[in-house]
Amino acid sequence: MAIPAFLKPRILVAAAAALALSACFGAPEAMKNNSGKRPVASKPNRPQVVGTPSFTGAEAQQCAFELKQAGVRFTPLPNQDHGGGCSSIDSVKLLDIGTPVSGLGAMTCPLARNFAAWARYAVKPAARKYFGSEVVKIETYGTYSCRNIYGGRSGRLSQHAYSNAIDVSGFVLADGRRIMLDGGWKGDSDSQDFLRALHKSACRRFGTVLSPDYNAAHYNHFHLDMSGNGYCR
Ligand SMILES: [Zn+2]
Repeated sequence: MAIPAFLKPRILVAAAAALALSACFGAPEAMKNNSGKRPVASKPNRPQVVGTPSFTGAEAQQCAFELKQAGVRFTPLPNQDHGGGCSSIDSVKLLDIGTPVSGLGAMTCPLARNFAAWARYAVKPAARKYFGSEVVKIETYGTYSCRNIYGGRSGRLSQHAYSNAIDVSGFVLADGRRIMLDGGWKGDSDSQDFLRALHKSACRRFGTVLSPDYNAAHYNHFHLDMSGNGYCR
């Protein structure tokens, strides 16, 4: 059954405010344990109704400004409640970050900003260093997905459910080589060094980074999200 119309805005306002807050400042320690949980309705500090235009708050506008300053081409997306606690708040669709990327859907602005910077300042230089080649494509398993944390029994929603995570599966080089997490993480020494350098750099840029070392579910990708405060595995 659908939520009665008169209740809907209230719930969504609270969810939007909580998400916008955690997205822009990163999750402080007090919020860390709540990250990924379904938003709880409470009195919002700054009303923001899902379905109305996005990027109305100062932090969100600052993020969009920084993305623009970085030379990234993107489209701001309207705020969306996807149901089931899943949402895309102050999110963008990346159009051009300087390197083609497959599988990109909605991404929160801070995630998009940090991902674009990682691609430019970590991925590209590392490919030159370890392979003497340019990265011509970053392959991913996507960003937004309304789902629980893999294997989680508590039913907590994944950061993917908030458009706040991306799964990176590999890199295509100009000479045709493909350096994939599946195979490369435990592959030849250049691939290992390259991927570990990217992992180390990602841990400085994202709130949570999960590699193939984390668990079996991550054998073929880096999970990068903006929740947490430097959780690096
Ligand atoms: Zn993921």
